[in-house]
Amino acid sequence: MTALDAVAASLAGRAVPDQPLGARTTYRVGGHAALLVEAHGEDDLVAVHRALVAAGDPVPLLVVGQGSNLLVADTGFPGLVVVLGGEFDFVDVHDTTVRAGGSASLPKVARKSAAAGLRGLEWGVGVPGSVGGALRMNAGGHGSDIAAVLDQCRLFDLSAGEAAVWGPDRLGLGYRRSDVGPGDAVVWAEFALTVGDRDAAMEAVTEVVRWRREHQPGGSNAGSVFTNPAGDSAGRLVDEAGLKGLRMGSAQVSPKHANFIQADSGGSADDVHRLIDYVRSVVADRTGVVLEPEVRLVGFAGDALPLVHAGPEPQTPPARAEVSTSSRGRDLSGSPTPDDPMPAVEPRLWQRRMAVLRDQSRRRLRWIIAALCAVVAATAVLVTLHSPVLAVRNVTVDGVHRTDPAAVVAAARVGGSPLVDIDTGASAARVEQLPWVAHATVVRSWPDGVTITVTERVPVAVVDRPGGGVAVVDGSGHVLELAATAPPGLLTLGAVAVPGGPGSVLGPAAGPALAVADALPATLAPGVRRLAVTAGHRVWLDLGGGVSAALGGGAHMGAKLQSLASVLASAHPTGPAVIDVTVPDLPTVGPPAAGAPPWRGAA
Ligand SMILES: Cc1cc2nc3c(=O)[nH]c(=O)nc-3n(C[C@H](O)[C@H](O)[C@H](O)COP(=O)(O)OP(=O)(O)OC[C@H]3O[C@@H](n4cnc5c(N)ncnc54)[C@H](O)[C@@H]3O)c2cc1C
Repeated sequence: MTALDAVAASLAGRAVPDQPLGARTTYRVGGHAALLVEAHGEDDLVAVHRALVAAGDPVPLLVVGQGSNLLVADTGFPGLVVVLGGEFDFVDVHDTTVRAGGSASLPKVARKSAAAGLRGLEWGVGVPGSVGGALRMNAGGHGSDIAAVLDQCRLFDLSAGEAAVWGPDRLGLGYRRSDVGPGDAVVWAEFALTVGDRDAAMEAVTEVVRWRREHQPGGSNAGSVFTNPAGDSAGRLVDEAGLKGLRMGSAQVSPKHANFIQADSGGSADDVHRLIDYVRSVVADRTGVVLEPEVRLVGFAGDALPLVHAGPEPQTPPARAEVSTSSRGRDLSGSPTPDDPMPAVEPRLWQRRMAVLRDQSRRRLRWIIAALCAVVAATAVLVTLHSPVLAVRNVTVDGVHRTDPAAVVAAARVGGSPLVDIDTGASAARVEQLPWVAHATVVRSWPDGVTITVTERVPVAVVDRPGGGVAVVDGSGHVLELAATAPPGLLTLGAVAVPGGPGSVLGPAAGPALAVADALPATLAPGVRRLAVTAGHRVWLDLGGGVSAALGGGAHMGAKLQSLASVLASAHPTGPAVIDVTVPDLPTVGPPAAGAPPWRGAA
């Protein structure tokens, strides 16, 4: 019986084997937990402790909250998962103190505190985890973190089977870290907040939600993938390495925020893991900075399992495989071995046991011989596959109009390599570094061919360059090429800086202008002379003859432009006039106000 079998037997009726774990995380990818127990009160935690004692050896153990900082391997987690609920899900507000259970949702605690007029935890509305997970990670944002507001907490030590109340000074809280170990379960945490104005607190909560919506992507992710290196931003380093939007299989570096990696629905945790590794290596090669994952990687080969041990110390520290999946090297239920003396056993029974053991040994030997034959055959196949006999000779490039096919082949780096050695994901990712390429797929065709299919970016606007000429950009602000003059039919974006050559990306200030360029209907485009963005990201169009259009911020741009088209279709005003479609349902036409539009008096 393995240590985990002993845990399962001890928790019979409470723990369930082979339960989906990836589905409990915000990534929504990854495999199952070998064993899962839902703890509804401290009695259940005591039962888990007893099961760990019964195991004798250390057991891989993971306490899971909302799963918003976890990436579970597709092969799952080969140990016991503890999920808190029931009595651990509560929020109590008393004067300026808020006590919340380990499984309570942090956004809920933040909202309830703000609704009681308490200040200090409003940022928590943007962290979609549990109180326990937030404490373990010392979660934070918007200039604060758990350490700043925590007064005390109750931790249940699953190894020792007892709980204690701890102050923040003994928890080793640092930037996205704490000394809360894999064998600790946060029972509750108490936050010391300050009295403030209820409306101001609720407004701060709303502002945090608005900011998150505007700056962070939706979809399946676990927030920031990497912690920020001292004095720098992980997102900036990934962005500057040109990896924003990079895709590997079902995982993609978010085009909206470079420190977020998203997984496609029904995707693979291994794709996310591969992409994390790839981004780390590119940033390290480029800058020498080795980014550290903030997201917890669970069950991946090469990552240490969180082992928890209760009861007397084991004789020898067990290796990972011994603990997680196998009983190899251990005496199963006290059975004799051929060399063991068995003085107290009746002789016929002893002979019978020895016969069974000999039979087992013979079967094991047959298995070993069969396995060796399989290894030899597999090695022969592998040697053939990796030999130059099956090297790539034909590369086909589809879908290119603006990109040189030779550049695509060079970027893919597939020619001459054995077909089996080609990493199609990495190859496609390299092709996607070319300025015009939005998306690429690389597909092998046996015995010696590779097809690279490219989807190119669509130019929507140009930006004047300080020294003359223009940069042609697409709707997401990628600089596609530099040209002496603007190609016909493209809108010129005013007051926008060009960051660099092809492949660079316009800064966030260009967002509203790009939204216009991207959504501009064909009927309006010929009448627009220029576009400018003024303070507060407010967008203006010069329609000529002293007539301007005020579009406001970048949101709802499609509706605003439709509204503008309707006004112009019904009656084209004469200048000086401003058509204000900031609220698209209520367009107004009037004289220009003082200070706006930006080109008043010109054109
Ligand atoms: C869209 C999005 C935005 C995010 N933004 C932020 C942000 O701004 N700032 C930030 O810090 N994080 C952020 N995160 C990450 C994540 O929400 C936090 O790390 C959160 O605190 C994790 O809590 P959880 O309950 O989901 O923990 P899980 O992901 O379930 O687990 C994380 C760790 O905590 C441990 N743990 C969980 N519950 C307990 C418990 N009761 N007792 C002991 N240990 C426990 C787990 O064993 C694991 O080691 C974001 C995530 C997403 C998806």
